[in-house]
Amino acid sequence: MSENWKLGPSDLTFLWDECKRCFYLKIRHNFKRPAAPFPKIFGTIDLLMKDIYLGQSTKMISSDFPDGKSIMSGRWVTSEPCGFGFHENTCYISGIFDTLVQFDNGSYGIVDFKTTKPNPRQVPFYSRQLHAYAYALENPAPGKLSYQPIERLGLLCFDPSRMHEDPPTSLNLSGPATWVECPLDKAGFLNFMEEVLTLLEQSKPPEPNPECPFCAYRASARTTDF
Ligand code: SF4
Repeated sequence: MSENWKLGPSDLTFLWDECKRCFYLKIRHNFKRPAAPFPKIFGTIDLLMKDIYLGQSTKMISSDFPDGKSIMSGRWVTSEPCGFGFHENTCYISGIFDTLVQFDNGSYGIVDFKTTKPNPRQVPFYSRQLHAYAYALENPAPGKLSYQPIERLGLLCFDPSRMHEDPPTSLNLSGPATWVECPLDKAGFLNFMEEVLTLLEQSKPPEPNPECPFCAYRASARTTDF
């Protein structure tokens, strides 16, 4: 019987790059590696950034943007099944994007907020996540959020590098917010999804990443009494 595997857009970044075995085990068998601690401050900054930009002009995000405004943030998207005729199974995208902007020319863009220094090496990595949101919005499952065409994708990178005193009791963290464009490549994303499906259809999980301490710990637990 064919299956329709759920992919979270963020699984297509870290997990895919770090270890195909963990990716396979999570998606096919819901067997997840323990989550690393995530400092609360990043989630707080992320929420505040979404609130600051919501309803504001797109020019606040990037002066290169066409006129428009940020219309929604933190919403679920779910795609229809993504299949390729020569594969028995399908997969679909389900996740929450940061912010959707609407341009006055009728097109849309997706913005992901990051608390980090901007770096061009981030582009291919996060591009897969952003294309996944775009795919889901343009190819929604019945009744799910639907917007198209998506024509701009990118990261707004906040680099908190200065602190100001605001007497008597506050300190304000500040720094530049830099737009990093992820060039649109919808055909390239479909090729990537085909690669993902090929991996998931393997009868056995790929080999583990030899550098990973989690699997070393598991292997050691199997061979000792601990
Ligand atoms: S090596 Fe093992 S624990 Fe580490 S990421 Fe891969 S499957 Fe997961």
